[in-house]
Amino acid sequence: MNLKENDTIRSAVSRLDFRTQAFIDGKFVDAASGKSFVTENPATGKPLTEIAACDKEDVDRAVKAARSAFEKGSWSKMSPADRKIVLFKFAGLLETHADELALLECLEAGKPIQDCSTIDIPETVNCIRWHAEAIDKLYDHVSPTSSDTLALILREPIGVVGAVIPWNFPALMAAWKIGPALAAGNSVLLKPSELSSLSVLRMAELSAEAGVPQGVFNVLPGLGETAGQAIGMHMDINMLAFTGSPEVGRLCLSYAAKSNLKRIALECGGKSPQVVMADAPEIDIVAENVLIGAFWNMGENCSCGSRLIVHESLKDPLLDRLIELCKEWPVGDPLNPETKVGSLIEKAHMEKVLGYIEAGISEGAQLLLGGRRVLVETGGYFIEPTIFDKVNKNMKIAREEIFGPVLSVITFTSEDQAISIANDSNYGLAASVYTQDVNSAFRISRALKAGTVSVNCFSEGDMTTPFGGYKESGFFGRDKSIWAHEQYTQLKTIWMQLD
Ligand code: NAD
Repeated sequence: MNLKENDTIRSAVSRLDFRTQAFIDGKFVDAASGKSFVTENPATGKPLTEIAACDKEDVDRAVKAARSAFEKGSWSKMSPADRKIVLFKFAGLLETHADELALLECLEAGKPIQDCSTIDIPETVNCIRWHAEAIDKLYDHVSPTSSDTLALILREPIGVVGAVIPWNFPALMAAWKIGPALAAGNSVLLKPSELSSLSVLRMAELSAEAGVPQGVFNVLPGLGETAGQAIGMHMDINMLAFTGSPEVGRLCLSYAAKSNLKRIALECGGKSPQVVMADAPEIDIVAENVLIGAFWNMGENCSCGSRLIVHESLKDPLLDRLIELCKEWPVGDPLNPETKVGSLIEKAHMEKVLGYIEAGISEGAQLLLGGRRVLVETGGYFIEPTIFDKVNKNMKIAREEIFGPVLSVITFTSEDQAISIANDSNYGLAASVYTQDVNSAFRISRALKAGTVSVNCFSEGDMTTPFGGYKESGFFGRDKSIWAHEQYTQLKTIWMQLD
């Protein structure tokens, strides 16, 4: 299908068939309570469908299925080479259904269709394929002991893994968790955000079609306080891999403390700095990257480069170019292939972002661009790209994660000052530095307290690089790359006394 044509897109939307039940033990089922919740299209404010609202009873049912599959070994004891074949098939089916998945994400999360079809879904496929490809190439260790002993150091799957994910990249966040968790042989219960469940439910169905055995991959749509908490508190779940806000991340740690000390891995928020040194590359290149960093995915991106920390000599030309480029980023219907900025995820979130814009104005920052809700007549939740100049590092808009298209501009005069402003945050997920001097690039990259630092670009790396945060942006482990495998396995030593 060609998702570049408006007519083709509209007719494909009319043919979409939503999966609205939970996926437990290889089957779609209603929630035990019979309850459901409404999911809406944030670009129109209208309901799309109702989805099963899972709760403790459904989590219990899914854990039983996941545990039984794990102990039987239908997946956990399958050879890595055979698991690889099934996961390759799964990736292939995701690719075959890429347009459908892209449309589901666009409709339910307000994300521009071009991004869904050229970035999110291809990256989802790539992630599953990458982890599948890796599993039969990972070796265990033999320890250097004396000749009358043999010590094997093995990595084993953890068992039943719970995964709770956010709404901003539904399929991709699911893939970042299930790719390495399934590759390692675990059984998984995944709870998508209540704001974006549809693509993940379809992924579950495709995994079964690919041959992932019954009970090994379960998807439990539902609310955080019910389904999410039940996963966190469950006594027979061995690990909870969470991506979302630091507030809920803290709750996850408390769930582990109050239940069975399950392993917890957290990927949380960010307030990423983009540091532009006086000797930055061409202003056009910097402006394009700053624009993507700040406004891509409506700023609803954990690594969003929401703080522009620029040398005072470059501020004016950079802002002039940035404002010009913003004109090339139309806000509009996410289904329109020309749209670069879609809708925010829901009304409450849009109001929160507008609240930050008001706070910026009342704290004395200078509103240079945007600042308004637009396209109100659609019923959708659109905010135009917004730039604040003259931001002070203590203002709310410089400190808190806004998770919307709002860029705060702060100037500096020395490298030390730039680094100090950049690091003055509770977060430490990502950062960018722009300079043409390789020595400064390396020195500043080492000094920035962030899990990923990109030089002369805005980037999260690719599947080969680990992703996760310093400080309150993360807790234990990393998504993506070989390091993701480590967090879904545990070490076992087998010590053998020989004759
Ligand atoms: P959120 O914390 O509100 O929700 C995340 C998930 O947790 C959802 O599935 C939600 O239903 C669930 N949840 C909510 N309350 C819960 C509770 N009491 N117990 C258990 N689960 C609960 O976050 P969000 O609004 O969905 O996503 C935005 C946040 O995610 C931002 O802070 C963003 O930076 C972060 N994020 C981080 C990364 C990363 O890789 N570091 C990636 C994407 C998003």
